[in-house]
Formats: sequence, structure tokens, C-alpha cells
Amino acid sequence: MQIYLVGGAVRDKLLGVATQDRDWVVVGGHPDQLKALGYQQVGADFPVFLHPQTKEEYALARTERKTGLGYQGFSVEFDSSVTLEEDLARRDLTINAMAEDDQGRLIDPFNGKADLDKRRLRHVSPAFREDPLRVLRIARFAARFHHLGFTIAKDTQDLLRLMADSGELQHLVAERVWTEMSRALGETTPSEYFKVLKRCTALAGLFPELDRLFGVPQTMRWHPEVDTGLHTLKALDWARAQTDDVEVLLATLCHDLGKGLTEATMLPSHHGHEQLGANLLRDIAKRMKWPKGPALLAETVARHHTLCHRLSEQSPVAVLDLLKNLNAFRQPSRVEQFGLACAADFYGRSGFERFNYPQRDLLSRYASACLTIAAAPFVQQGLTGKAIGAAMDQARVELLTELIGTDV
Ligand code: ATP
Ligand code: MG
Repeated sequence: MQIYLVGGAVRDKLLGVATQDRDWVVVGGHPDQLKALGYQQVGADFPVFLHPQTKEEYALARTERKTGLGYQGFSVEFDSSVTLEEDLARRDLTINAMAEDDQGRLIDPFNGKADLDKRRLRHVSPAFREDPLRVLRIARFAARFHHLGFTIAKDTQDLLRLMADSGELQHLVAERVWTEMSRALGETTPSEYFKVLKRCTALAGLFPELDRLFGVPQTMRWHPEVDTGLHTLKALDWARAQTDDVEVLLATLCHDLGKGLTEATMLPSHHGHEQLGANLLRDIAKRMKWPKGPALLAETVARHHTLCHRLSEQSPVAVLDLLKNLNAFRQPSRVEQFGLACAADFYGRSGFERFNYPQRDLLSRYASACLTIAAAPFVQQGLTGKAIGAAMDQARVELLTELIGTDV
């Protein structure tokens, strides 16, 4: 039985970047052997084991053959005669198909090292086609390594296009698509994920409401970049440079989806895109099975982001309404998240880097001030039930009136 380090850990070591986890392959081993050594079996479809101490993943070398639709339609062979090279051949990208033995020697049958040096994402073999999830994975690696100069090889791009055209991505379950997308949002250049999917036409099937934004014009004065899709991706990368909070990143990605529904006669103006987008997001979140937290922030940002841009024009009562809509008093972190997504919308416009966006801090200040209003004094005054809330709101409005007065 021989054990090799494989996949991301080998790639990241050669690349000189921090690795997230280490994966191992066991060649010539048998499940019983590993269990006897104290490894714990996980995974029902094929044997993956957790090391008794490190808890790292050890998988028996295996081959995979396509038998049906979707990423589950595989038959897997993992008897002890499967070689390391055979195991590496089933992997997605050449840079992910390298192994290292216990002497630190590189095993690299698909020239992954050369592709790393050339900053090239390239598929290992035509079998890449067999798993539509790989389209999302390669888009995610493009987002992760874009800043290092990586691009997708021409042949691989052609293959992605073929896979997208085949319609097989429609068989991916929503949860897997969410997992890939939410991880992609946290990569260094998340816009690349969506650009890769757009270029191979997969985005139209996976997320048509986002795909539709490309080519939709906006008013030049407020959006020198004009195109709504480009604006969205610029905003997303700006947000990512500030945070890795997936909720904020998703909300930034989705803040203008309503602009895809604007009547042609109204363009390049997008009156009412906030409500349209927020309502659309309810259906999208359900269909794409997004978790509740991110889905709700996305809807809130879509509905209220322009209010934040025009914060200085809002009355104290309107500001209080906005804070309540953000659930600011039960979930204060929502205000920060909302403000950041709104700032990303602002800075996601060509040339707007040189301007200030004071609304973000102002809104936080308003929220903090309102948070100092407690229920206790009103209860002591003898108020009960709804009267407590009403008195608190009154006090909040008075505070906001004072604050807003001093800001102008
Ligand atoms: P990360 O740094 O995100 O962990 P990774 O390359 O290690 O990147 P994993 O998802 O941990 O990615 O998978 C480990 C290895 O398994 C990959 O490097 C690749 O060789 C292989 N692999 C994972 N998923 C697939 C897939 N869908 N098709 C082909 N090979 C895959
Ligand atoms: Mg890994």
C-alpha cells in the first residue's frame, strides 16, 4: 500500500500559496486494511477515509465511468489494482492531477507543472465532459487564480461551450450550484466566475436573471460604464476587496437584477427596478435554493439600495422605516452589511473611485443612535403593549431629527 499527496495541496505548494486542506490517495490498499489501522470510513458511494489523528481525507485510488445523466451518473471502480496514473486521469484539471510521494517526488503524467508555469487551466482528458459540475469548478478556479495570471486554455474553453450547449448543466441539483457559487463569491476575483460562465453560455441556463443584465444600458451620468452586467461585476469585485461575507457579496451581485425587466421604451432609465428586483429575488432564491440569510439580505438590498444613495433626502421617519426594514434593532450587523453592499453599488461605476460615499457611515451612525433607545424607561413610566414601541419610535425619530439636523 502506497500513499500519495494529491490535488490542491500539490498544486498550491508548487504555486507557493496557502492550501486549504490536504487530500491523499491510497494505491494498492483495501478498505479493511485502512479500517484496521484506525481510519474511519466516510462517503457511501466510494471509500474515503479519515486519518485517525489528522482527520485528513484518504481515498482509495479509483476510476470513474460515465453511466447516466448528471454528476451522479458514474460507476466507480476502486479495487486495489487501480494505479496512481489511472486515478489522476479521472481528475478535472491538469494542475489538480499531480501527486507527490513520501520522498517529495512529483508524479505529473498530464504536465500539470508546465500548465502551472504557463498559468493555464486545462482539462486532463475528454472525460472532463462527463461531469457538468466541472464547468462550475473551473470557473471557480479562474476566479481564485485570476490575479496570478491564469486563463483557460482554448481547447478547454471550447469544451466548456460544448458542455453548456448540451444542456447537461440543467441536471445539476440546486444545492451543488449554490455551493459552487457561494465559494466562488469568496474567491479573490469573483467576477471571473460569472465571466467564464457567461463566455461559455452556461450562465443563461444557470442564472438567466443575471445573464440578461449584459447588454442592458443605464444612464451615462450615473453609470459611465453603461452596461448593467459590467457594473454588477465591478461592484462585486469592489465588495470582495472589502469583505468575504457571502451574504454581502450575493446581495451586491443581485442588487440590480430588476434592471433586466425594464421595458425597452424606458431605457436607459430604470424606474422601479428596486421593487421588480426584490420581487424577482423571492422566486430566484426559492428556485436556486439559497439559504435564508443570504436570500433575505439580497432581497433587502435590491429593494432599498437607492434609498441609501439618497439618504440625505430622507426624513427622520423614512430613515427609521429603512432601519426597521433592515431589522436593524434585532440584527444590528444587517446595517453594516447593507451599507457595504450599497457602497459597492456606488463604487462599482467607472471613475467613481474618486468620490466619497458618506451614506454608509451615516446610516451606521443613525442605527447606533437608535440602538441607545431602550424599552425600560417607558415601562417604568407605566406604558404597556404597543404603547412602548410607539414611544420608542417617537424617541428614535427625535434623535434622528437632531442628528440629521447636525449633518447638513
Ligand atoms: P481546494 O483548494 O478548493 O480544496 P482542490 O483542488 O483540493 O481545491 P477539492 O474539491 O478538494 O479541490 O478536490 C480535490 C481533488 O479532487 C481536486 O484537486 C481534483 O483533482 C479532484 N476533483 C474534485 N472534484 C472533481 C470533479 N468534479 N471532477 C474531477 N476531479 C475532481
Ligand atoms: Mg482540496
